[in-house]
Amino acid sequence: MVYLSVRGRIWLQAEAMNMVESVGNYIKHRRVPVMVRTGNSYVTFFVPAVSGESVAHTYQVLLAEELKKLGVRVCKYCERGIFLKSTSGDVYKEVTGSDPPKLGSSAKGEEIMKAAKGIEEIIVRSCGVEDIGGFLYAENPNVKRTSHFSTGYVIPVKEVLEVVSMEPQLHSRYALGTRFVRTGEGAAGQMIYYVEVSSAVFSFAFDLDTKYIGRYTFHIDNYGRPIVDIQEIDRRVRASLEALKRLLIEFPVGAKRTRFNPADLRWESIAIAVSDDVWTMPSSFVGDYIQRAVAKKSKFSCNTTVHAYAEGGCSGVDKCYSTLEEAVVGSLEDALNRWAREVQSS
Ligand SMILES: [Zn+2]
Repeated sequence: MVYLSVRGRIWLQAEAMNMVESVGNYIKHRRVPVMVRTGNSYVTFFVPAVSGESVAHTYQVLLAEELKKLGVRVCKYCERGIFLKSTSGDVYKEVTGSDPPKLGSSAKGEEIMKAAKGIEEIIVRSCGVEDIGGFLYAENPNVKRTSHFSTGYVIPVKEVLEVVSMEPQLHSRYALGTRFVRTGEGAAGQMIYYVEVSSAVFSFAFDLDTKYIGRYTFHIDNYGRPIVDIQEIDRRVRASLEALKRLLIEFPVGAKRTRFNPADLRWESIAIAVSDDVWTMPSSFVGDYIQRAVAKKSKFSCNTTVHAYAEGGCSGVDKCYSTLEEAVVGSLEDALNRWAREVQSS
């Protein structure tokens, strides 16, 4: 298996990437509570955030594209960025092209396990996104597949918590001077609205575990056994790596990008650990995360190589690059080489 763990700090200036509700004409940015220690007391800040669901959505859109390029099946919903994930019998039918198994109320034991095995198999075969990103078939029997990648909230880093703010920006749609303005209806002809924007250095985290891609994870007796052949697993793993490369280099995360594209979108630092087993990077919420990764690796390693880029340079890591793109490409080449060796030996 190949395990990738990404942590980084990214500048996002004047962004409105994850809006949560509108109150009248006021559109609010997502905000989360963050608690930190100051001396002997603790204080909570409410800060702008981009949800892990938003990051996961972006990754899976890219993943669907990369899977299709390599000839892997992707269902018609996932390929359009609608991640229903075989949740009901109706969706299952469209994803797999077959009827879901019908279990009577007296079904038990072997019969339930047989149905669950069949459901897991056919969904994994039918849609590469649902294989890698997980699914929940919420009918009888329930069949669940945990995602092979993990991400979370993108929040301002610890050092900026005291200075970060969200500011509502006034915008207007203007129609005065046209025949579309109706008189006697208050402010018709000029509609104002507010959008909250924020600027900060944000922390970012993403882990990818290739161990069970294309394999059973729900049916206990078959746990870890392949559902598809090794060439198909190979295509799926390669697509998952290529999608991660695009996610990190282009960072097309979030909504409102046509009018609120961040004025600056730039990685201040990033570190990508490539390992032969589960090895996660320390959180980039605090600035010394790359040094902590080096310290962690000196005590515990899974043949881990830490690839990093930081403005002002990074020291102590296995590979220090002078640009973000070199760090991303270098780490993914490392992952691909390890994966190719595993495919050859299988
Ligand atoms: Zn799908």
